[in-house]
Amino acid sequence: MSWNKIIGHEKIKRILQNDILNNSIANAYCFVGPEGIGKDAMAIAFAKVMNCKQAVHENNTVDACGVCKSCQQFDNLSHPNFELIFSLPTGKAGDSESPFEKLDNEQFAEVRRELQAKSENHYHKMEIKGANFIRVSFIRFVKRKLLLSNSVPGRRFILVSRADEMNVESANAFLKTLEEPHNDVTIVLTSSKAEGMLPTIMSRCRKVQFSPVEVGQIKKELMVNYGFDEESAHTASLFSGGSPVRALQFESSDLAASRNAMVNMLRQSLKRKDFQLSLSAAIEELVSTKDKNKLFNDLKLFQLWLRDVSANRYGGGANLFNSDDSLTIIKFDNAFRDKNILKAIEEVDASITLVHRNVNPQLLLYKLFFNLREIFLV
Ligand SMILES: [Zn+2]
Repeated sequence: MSWNKIIGHEKIKRILQNDILNNSIANAYCFVGPEGIGKDAMAIAFAKVMNCKQAVHENNTVDACGVCKSCQQFDNLSHPNFELIFSLPTGKAGDSESPFEKLDNEQFAEVRRELQAKSENHYHKMEIKGANFIRVSFIRFVKRKLLLSNSVPGRRFILVSRADEMNVESANAFLKTLEEPHNDVTIVLTSSKAEGMLPTIMSRCRKVQFSPVEVGQIKKELMVNYGFDEESAHTASLFSGGSPVRALQFESSDLAASRNAMVNMLRQSLKRKDFQLSLSAAIEELVSTKDKNKLFNDLKLFQLWLRDVSANRYGGGANLFNSDDSLTIIKFDNAFRDKNILKAIEEVDASITLVHRNVNPQLLLYKLFFNLREIFLV
C-alpha cells in the first residue's frame, strides 16, 4: 500500500490516482505548498503506484501492492527508474561524471547518511551542511542518464526536491529537459517557495497546491496508520501545526525530556550569580547533536511551555499543554508575575524563525537566553 502512509491531502491523492487511471500522467508536475507538509513523500508514493507490478484497482481507485520488487525499491529509494535531485555542497573543482565525485569524504558520508534517512522515512527533511544549491552538474548527470535506455521497464521518475534551490545555470539546464519531454518520464518538482522558481519552468508543469493538514486528521492517521497511541497522537498532532513532517518527528523523541532541558536552561540563565558558566554548559550539551530539526522542536516545546505560563496568568490555567508540569508552571508564573511573558514568547518565536537560516545554534541560544534574562530579571 502507498497512499495510506501519506497523512492528509485526500483530494490530491484522488487527482493523482485519476491521472494514472485515465492515462493522463503529465510530463511534469510542480507540488507547491508550505514546508513540512509531505510533498516529497506524496511524489514518491505517486511514483510507486504508477510503477507497481500488481497495482490494486478497486472502485475507481488505484494503489500500490506494497510487496512487489518495484514497490520495495521505491520504499528504499533504490528503484533504477527513480532519480532524486537535491542541493549539494560545493565540491572540488573540475569535471567529473557524477556530482558526488566532487565531494570530499566527509561531505560524501553526510550525503549518504541523509539519503539513508530519507529512504527510511520519506518525510525526512534532508539537511546537508553547505548544500545551498541544486548544482548544474547534478542536472546534467541525470540528463545523461535519461539518454540511456531503461534498465527495467516502466515509467521513469525524477523528483527535484526543493526545486527553488536551483541556481540560474541549473534552472536553464533543467528547462531544456522540460522543453523536450520524454514520453516515459515524469518529473515532479517540490517547493515551498514557488515564487523563487523561474516562471518558464512553472508554466511547463502541472501545478498541484498543498495546504496544511487539519490537526484532527493528523491525529487520526497517526493512530490508524502509524501505530501511535491516543495520547502521543494527540500531543504530536497539536504540536505539528498542520505539518505531518513535524508530527512524525515526535515518534521517537521524548517530549518531556526535551522540554525539561529547555526549562532548565531558562533556570540557569536566571541565576543571580555566575549564570554564564552553567548556561553555556547547558547550551553546549543541547546543541552537541548539531541537529537543527531537534533544536527547532525544542524551541517550539519551550514556547508552548511559556504559553502555558501565560495561560495560567490570563486564562486561569485551564487546558495547559504541559499539564504534567503544571506545578512548575504555576510556581514560575508566581515568581515572575510582573514580567512581560508575551515579550518572552515573542523572543522564542524570533529564534525559531532563525534556526533554519545560517545562524550558529550556540549563538542563537545565548542571545535568546540573555534576552530572556533581561525580560525576567530587569
Ligand atoms: Zn507493487
